[in-house]
Amino acid sequence: MDFENSLAFAKHLDERDALKEQRNKFHIPKDKNGKEWLYFTGNSLGLQPKKTKGDLQVELDDWANLGVEGHFLAKNPWVKYHNFLTENMANIVGAKPIEVTIANTLTVNLHLLMVSFYRPTNTKYKIVIESDAFPSDRYAVESQLKFHGFDPKEALIEWKPREGEELLNIEDLEKIVDEQGNEIALLLIGGVNYYTGQYLDLKKIAAIGHSKNCIVGIDLAHGAGNIQPNLHNSGVDFSTWCTYKYLNSGPGSLSGIFVHERHAYNKDLPRFAGWWNHKLESRFNMRKPFDVVAGAEGWHLSNVPVFSMAPIKTSLEMFVEVGMDKLREKSILLTDYFEFLLSELNSNRIRVITPKNSNERGCQLSIQVLNADKTLHNQLMKRNVITDWREPDVIRCAPVPMYNSFSDVYNMVRILKELL
Ligand SMILES: *Cc1c(COP(=O)(O)O)cnc(C)c1O
Repeated sequence: MDFENSLAFAKHLDERDALKEQRNKFHIPKDKNGKEWLYFTGNSLGLQPKKTKGDLQVELDDWANLGVEGHFLAKNPWVKYHNFLTENMANIVGAKPIEVTIANTLTVNLHLLMVSFYRPTNTKYKIVIESDAFPSDRYAVESQLKFHGFDPKEALIEWKPREGEELLNIEDLEKIVDEQGNEIALLLIGGVNYYTGQYLDLKKIAAIGHSKNCIVGIDLAHGAGNIQPNLHNSGVDFSTWCTYKYLNSGPGSLSGIFVHERHAYNKDLPRFAGWWNHKLESRFNMRKPFDVVAGAEGWHLSNVPVFSMAPIKTSLEMFVEVGMDKLREKSILLTDYFEFLLSELNSNRIRVITPKNSNERGCQLSIQVLNADKTLHNQLMKRNVITDWREPDVIRCAPVPMYNSFSDVYNMVRILKELL
């Protein structure tokens, strides 16, 4: 499409946007004068659907009226509450229901999955991460290495961008695995990098890892609800993500788990256990020996935190109702338009470092600021443009297709132009 740099054109795109009604289903934060913020941080904390409060209230009422009986008698019986989420979550990340569950929080799941899938030997023990991995992932991996008696200085391999570049090149990962694959036990890679917004080819990464018998795990915190990772077909062994970023389920909410079907019935995998990954049929007989549930639910340890899950249930239903195909279609157009408007600024103070090809990014654009000048970000915030600054020198902006409009993007760039 030929884009135009005008508010009229942005409004025209809004008019023909098949998803334009979705925005009305969200609370958009406002300033003191009642003017809506331009919210570009759905990649950090998604906005609240208006429906969430009522759905949460249903559970509070059932608790008030039923007490413990709510486990079986609530409108949505709590004992299997997570099951109400599974199918929709699987649909969104392109997996089979047996491969997906919602449980625990993201960093906890990284650890639980590494307990099962990082099984180092004396010769095959190294872990590969991106040099720009999210800090929590790096800390999790380093602590796992130390827990098994390895020194991260030697056992942690970083997949780095080439000199003078920001983005990762898959050939470099190939080279690492070619050369050191016999010593590598695990690749743990962010499917969409939180800093650059680069969306990596999961299928290729899985093939590279598996060619040398390395387990492949993917952190999809910035992917779930943003891109279509087709987890089952990608062939990766496991993945985990949070639901409070693109999936709009509220601060610090729970995490999704994907474990590929090929591991679903393997009872020999080492794992940490609790009563909720024991089979439901005999869970309440209490004194039976541990018998693990098949599939991703086998990493579910505790009983269900219903008040965290209720907002996830609401949100996933919205995603499935709209459909990831349609969301992604709008997302590509919205971010392409955003990129077009930024390029029209012709500024030498800023530069987009996110890949240009829409197959290699989600909705986020990372704007690198010359001389790491953070004042630009602070000025945007003062003008009610909500973005985030990530050290050393990037403003991350995520126009999300669920509630951001083409006018949002236009107005944001107009303000940015004034500031520059
Ligand atoms: C947001 C994010 C996290 C946060 O983990 P929590 O355990 O939910 O606090 C971890 N890793 C990545 C890649 C993230 O983007």
